[in-house]
Amino acid sequence: MPDTILQCNPRADYLAHKREIDAAIEGVLEAGSYVLGQQVAAFEQEFSAYLGVGHAVGVGNGTDALHLALRACGVGRGDAVITVSHTAVATVAAIELVAAEPILVDIDSITLTMDPNRLEAAIKNSRRRRVKAVIPVHLYGQPADLSAILEIAKRYDLYVIEDCAQSHGASWEGRKTGAWGHMATFSFYPTKNLAALGDGGAIVTNDLSLADKSRQLREYGWRDRYVSLLPGLNSRLDELQAAVLRVKLRYLDAANLRRQALARLYDCSLQAQKSVQTPSCGKGLHVYHQYVVRSPERQSLKSYLQSNGISTLIHYPVPVHLQPAYKDRLTIGIGGLGRSEEACQKVLSLPMHPHLADHESLEVCEMLKRWAGSRENN
Ligand SMILES: *Cc1c(COP(=O)(O)O)cnc(C)c1O
Repeated sequence: MPDTILQCNPRADYLAHKREIDAAIEGVLEAGSYVLGQQVAAFEQEFSAYLGVGHAVGVGNGTDALHLALRACGVGRGDAVITVSHTAVATVAAIELVAAEPILVDIDSITLTMDPNRLEAAIKNSRRRRVKAVIPVHLYGQPADLSAILEIAKRYDLYVIEDCAQSHGASWEGRKTGAWGHMATFSFYPTKNLAALGDGGAIVTNDLSLADKSRQLREYGWRDRYVSLLPGLNSRLDELQAAVLRVKLRYLDAANLRRQALARLYDCSLQAQKSVQTPSCGKGLHVYHQYVVRSPERQSLKSYLQSNGISTLIHYPVPVHLQPAYKDRLTIGIGGLGRSEEACQKVLSLPMHPHLADHESLEVCEMLKRWAGSRENN
């Protein structure tokens, strides 16, 4: 049976804003400047204003954004960086790209984001190491406990780099994610809440010297053309993506409100279900990049929904420290990663995107209840 309800739908988002996006693309094609031009500069302005931060620097993708932010903070060989294992592999890969050592700490079992107690325990336990930065991940669109993490980072003099690849528009105590840390990074991969039609990313910060450094690093270490002040690389945002992102940014708040409304529908329908655990909101404003339920029988649920034309995804089936590329060689914070391992076995991302109809989300709930009913009768 073909999928009738998609888990995500970047094409629907293009079609919803087709006239404006096509016009923006045509404008770039006509203007004749294709990399780091007016569109990128305008997007950087608009995105930093939206977030309430001083500076934004457009780069090639979210992984590069993390890599360059770490380099801008001077993190490198001999340094350690604390993050979580229940995240996209990119978070950990970026730490190794600067030759630093990742230390992985466990998550809170309610919010599935970094447990600040584990963060502090890991810092205390790694006195021999030079812990230089912490990367909290606002997974699924839910802010990590920024107040606690910032307070700990301040006491131990660590940089905080927020990984906001899933949290465009989310906020904590009224301030947007990305406006809390020394730096923050975004991905504009086509399925993210703010999405390009290809790869894209951004680094944001309130610190002018960190912004300048990031700007230089993204293009061969140049401040002035052809003069490399730093050993940099090439990770530029192109004009077509920036022009598309400027259109999409105007609709980001509306899209996030729609995601939140769909989440309420799911919540209302599913909270009474014993067979699945619905996501619980922490203190922050959640923007539901994903709506993630947990079930010890998620494979059966996934197959049942699939056979009824409903696609779901698993974010993520294997935590980073158990992936083939990382297994048995990463440093694990004190207390272990039991909650991360458990989450990976239970999580299932239901269909969630701003163009999902109410009746579609209700159909997902109906099918989920039928699955639960069929299991109780067996
Ligand atoms: C998507 C994502 C990234 C990486 O972004 P890319 O643009 O794919 O490089 C990093 N961290 C998290 C949490 C992500 O979801």
